[in-house]
Amino acid sequence: MELYNLTATDIVDKIKKKQVSAREITKSFLERIKSIDPKINAFVSVYNEDAVKQAEEVDKKINSGKESGKLAGVPVAIKDNMCIRGQKTTCSSKILENYVAPYDATIIERLKQEDAVIIGKTNMDEFAMGSSTENSAFMVTKNPWDLKRIPGGSSGGSAAAVSALISPVSLGSDTGGSIRQPASLCGVVGLKPTYGRISRYGLIAFASSLDQIGPISRNVADTALVLSAISGYDRKDSTSVDLPVDDYLAEIEKDIKGLTIGLPKEYFVDAVDKDVEKAIRDSVKIFEKLGAKIKEVSLPHTKYALSVYYIIAPSEASANLARYDGVKYGYRADSGTLVGMYENTRSAGFGSEVKRRIMLGTYALSSGYYDAYYLKAQKVRTLIKNDFDRAFNPAGAGADIILTPTSPFAAFRIGEKTANPLQMYFSDVFTLSCSLAGICGISIPCGFSSEGLPIGLQLIGKAFDEKTILKAAGNFQKQTDHHLKIPNINA
Ligand code: GLN
Repeated sequence: MELYNLTATDIVDKIKKKQVSAREITKSFLERIKSIDPKINAFVSVYNEDAVKQAEEVDKKINSGKESGKLAGVPVAIKDNMCIRGQKTTCSSKILENYVAPYDATIIERLKQEDAVIIGKTNMDEFAMGSSTENSAFMVTKNPWDLKRIPGGSSGGSAAAVSALISPVSLGSDTGGSIRQPASLCGVVGLKPTYGRISRYGLIAFASSLDQIGPISRNVADTALVLSAISGYDRKDSTSVDLPVDDYLAEIEKDIKGLTIGLPKEYFVDAVDKDVEKAIRDSVKIFEKLGAKIKEVSLPHTKYALSVYYIIAPSEASANLARYDGVKYGYRADSGTLVGMYENTRSAGFGSEVKRRIMLGTYALSSGYYDAYYLKAQKVRTLIKNDFDRAFNPAGAGADIILTPTSPFAAFRIGEKTANPLQMYFSDVFTLSCSLAGICGISIPCGFSSEGLPIGLQLIGKAFDEKTILKAAGNFQKQTDHHLKIPNINA
């Protein structure tokens, strides 16, 4: 067996037992990147030499008998919107094409502390705006299951890299679905933590009240492992929350007898593809066999999630992206005047989806429209959150977790939705509410479409209750083999 077949938990185990060295593992994945990534385009930067150096450091530590970290020798790919000191951080945008970060994001510091090996940066929709990774200024990432299709987005590079076994795990960011939706479309596991669980320090901001970093991996144990390594309070992020981090790996071993799983009736609608609906219904039966109680619940404000998100996220984006003016960061276009320089820089530096969002957001925040759009959207956001509170309340529906499809459809063809932004936006219709409510969600593989494309199911949990969605996901995975299937791209 080639070393790149190993999962993160296997790698840690074998390295600690000295059955394999971190250097050998890293080399195996770097070789795999060289041979396979030209077909997938998952990576925008690969740290060929630096990754080997990091791995050699880990080997030294292990050979000297020192205690090694939780992720000792595990290669990790990072979405290119997280800062690594001395490395380019582009957000797949022309405006940051040559931007070199002067500091490490907190999650990078934590990965290093836990002896992970950072192997490179992955492609994404520009500034994380999109659902297909087609909005990258550099290239389109392909879905390893069908190279004519998109991998989902915006963390498409991170999901495709794990699916194609070119990195055992990766980090993505999720603002409205960008970890869960590409994980679903690439047949891997993706977790969006509760808002505040993982530090955002060093994550380039898109919509600050929604953005969260999270792991993408091949199975639930690897997700639990990475989550436990990067979670926790950070004084550099004022929105991070000082709550203890659970032992997620231990939690996934527990059973789910008596767990109440809510099925929201608003998520089982005609717009859901038939194959997706069938895979989800079949999965519900597996949860029943595992001893869970299934209960219909109602999240009546679900129908407003898309509209609310597309007011709040662009509003925050328009403010966050004001900093790219050609003076402080990245690209600058010349002009005879200061205002001309701003205009030319932003016109040439941003792609069309980013400009569309800046215009939408600026409009929604402008005086006279603020109350009608932005403030109204914030109020409806609270109603969406209240829906979940009622569903989870023991005096109400009493659900412990909520089960839904992750995406209404499997991976679509490259170019199929680029001409119609609204159709593209619809891709995240089932992930947005969880983001707006600030709670946690995980997507796990649950079947395949008649065309052989992966389908994912989403489990949504209460705030800071990642352990329960992981436990349910882990139990499901023990009964199924969808996550063990690997796309055939070696030819
Ligand atoms: N697809 C959604 C958007 O385009 C969500 C993106 C994300 O989660 N970063 O905004």
